[in-house]
Amino acid sequence: MSETICDMPAPGPAFVDTVRSQFPLLARKTRGKTLAYLDSASTTQKPQAVIDAMSKHYVENNANVHRGIYALAEKATSEYEKVRARVASFIHCKPDEVIFTSGTTGAMNLLAYSLQSRLSKGDEIIVSILEHHSNMVPWQELARRTGAVVKYAPLTADGQIDMKKFDSLLSGKTKIVSITHVSNVLGTIVDVKEIVKLAHKHGALVIVDGAQAIAHLEIDIPSLGCDFYAFSAHKMYGPTGVGVLYGRKELLEVLPPPLFGGEMIRTVTVEGSTWNDLPWKFEPGTPNIAGVIGLCAALTYLSSLDRAKMHAHEQAMVNRAVYSLSRIEGVTIFGPQQRAPLVSFAVAGIHAHDIAHVLDKHHVAVRAGHHCAMPLMNALGVEATVRASFGMYTTAEDIDRLIDGVQDAIKVLA
Ligand code: PMP
Repeated sequence: MSETICDMPAPGPAFVDTVRSQFPLLARKTRGKTLAYLDSASTTQKPQAVIDAMSKHYVENNANVHRGIYALAEKATSEYEKVRARVASFIHCKPDEVIFTSGTTGAMNLLAYSLQSRLSKGDEIIVSILEHHSNMVPWQELARRTGAVVKYAPLTADGQIDMKKFDSLLSGKTKIVSITHVSNVLGTIVDVKEIVKLAHKHGALVIVDGAQAIAHLEIDIPSLGCDFYAFSAHKMYGPTGVGVLYGRKELLEVLPPPLFGGEMIRTVTVEGSTWNDLPWKFEPGTPNIAGVIGLCAALTYLSSLDRAKMHAHEQAMVNRAVYSLSRIEGVTIFGPQQRAPLVSFAVAGIHAHDIAHVLDKHHVAVRAGHHCAMPLMNALGVEATVRASFGMYTTAEDIDRLIDGVQDAIKVLA
């Protein structure tokens, strides 16, 4: 990494100061110190606007949706359905292609059950070694149920999907390709367009895990060309327990619902049932209404910002972290040079958990462990890494506190 990377122009402190003033948790002090929160890839902190929107929903609009015919229920329903249109315009798809889920994991499991009808013994599913367990285990289980086989696209030495090897795995047997857009461990940004191009040549469906991409990349479904795209609200400054599955309409129309219950039906008789229209066919039971309202507030908040400025700031933060970490003796940094705003590293002779423990004493919050990506850890030849991940509110001081903490950990533990 060049000496100049640290000096990359980032938006001035005004951007970060304004942003930070809207995140109440970041102003809180414990033992007299604010927290350097460097775990945004696990979950982002929430702006006041999201907290207020959810509270307002419960105070003013709380009723179940799609059921009551009284004014309050109709208001709740119309607020809830408005969010579908907001999500659709955020990722550029049709509102009835937006299914609310419990999160990315919920979306992947939904698909793994719904797509079961399309798989037979000997068919193939391709994922990559980069994947989070939630985009690996549901496919392994689907393969177990159907006799299909999961194939794993390997990585290059710097943590990118090896596209040549990926291409060579594809064949007429490939029915599903499910790939992350951004790695939660390495920050690798996957060339989804290319994956789609190659997979579609063989007639495979392409599913994209957008959990780590949604807060950092502009997501344009038509230009990606994928068949499904999943993300979680809590990784994009929204609440936990709610997410989105985009699905191409022609596919959603013919796929069977994997979960059954209220609201997803059109008729029920003792002989059997028929299904509701899209997208409600895929949303059984009472949804996370307040969560969906919170997601809307997060979208509004994100849309109110200068996103180019936000991305430039996040890039400046990760570049600063990578540069400073690379100058500490004994530190190994994993992943490609061009990365989303997170960095995983190991320190020779010290367990990642011990580093995280010392950092906690410095009021620096990072994640340490396998990051729900055990096969990737295996490919990297480590048991665990320390991961520092950044958001729009991360400051240069947060990064400096990380670096001081790592240096202290080495002093204390090496
Ligand atoms: N995929 C990736 C790449 C992730 O980082 C995560 C969350 N760490 C998930 C999937 C799962 O998201 P959730 O826990 O919100 O369902």
